[in-house]
Amino acid sequence: MNIVILLGAPGSGKGTVAGKLAADNANLKHVSSGDLLRGAVAKGTEAGLEAKGYMESGNLVPDALIARMIKDVVAETTGDVTMLLDGFPRNLAQAEILEEMGAPIKSAVLIDVPDEIIQDRIAGRRTCPKCKAGYHVKNLPPKVEGVCDNCGSELTIRKDDNPETVKDRLVVYHRQTEPLIEFYKAKGCLKTVDGMTGVDSVAAEFLKVM
Ligand code: AMP
Repeated sequence: MNIVILLGAPGSGKGTVAGKLAADNANLKHVSSGDLLRGAVAKGTEAGLEAKGYMESGNLVPDALIARMIKDVVAETTGDVTMLLDGFPRNLAQAEILEEMGAPIKSAVLIDVPDEIIQDRIAGRRTCPKCKAGYHVKNLPPKVEGVCDNCGSELTIRKDDNPETVKDRLVVYHRQTEPLIEFYKAKGCLKTVDGMTGVDSVAAEFLKVM
């Protein structure tokens, strides 16, 4: 098993690209820290109850809480698999924790999208609560409005996708997550793809550079 880290602002398309690549390639596994946390919140586990308030306000949950979840997924992933790690690490402390887990990091790929585009992208974002497929009302609409193509569930808007919380999430991104770009550049494993070229093209470019 080895790991490819997805870097990029909220709404840059990390989940969409990783989801598409994992659906098209049997040896790629998409692991989203946000999905793990939303799952825990939905189930009402102890971790979920602790995470809920941080997530709704657009803040990061405590490092130890999310690190435990990621550690479990890393431990259970074996064989000829590349894990597309989406949303973790989110700060330098988490990057160090990931190093300590010892799983080989193949690359960190930044999906580059300007801030001014992000608000619009997130405003149109729709998610399937059941199979986690992501859509956008303009850029990636489902075949039937409001309904998931894969499983027929009714699409929802994430609670933290409202404009005020998105602003806060962008501040958190620039302050805490962006330093990871320099961190992985210094390690010599940073790649960048242009996130503005459309889902298929971003996914193809991602696969090429990762
Ligand atoms: P995402 O789906 O990646 O946008 O994550 C949604 C929310 O989950 C974030 O705004 C954070 O509150 C929380 N979250 C996800 N990943 C992490 C992480 N690695 N560290 C801390 N909080 C996280």
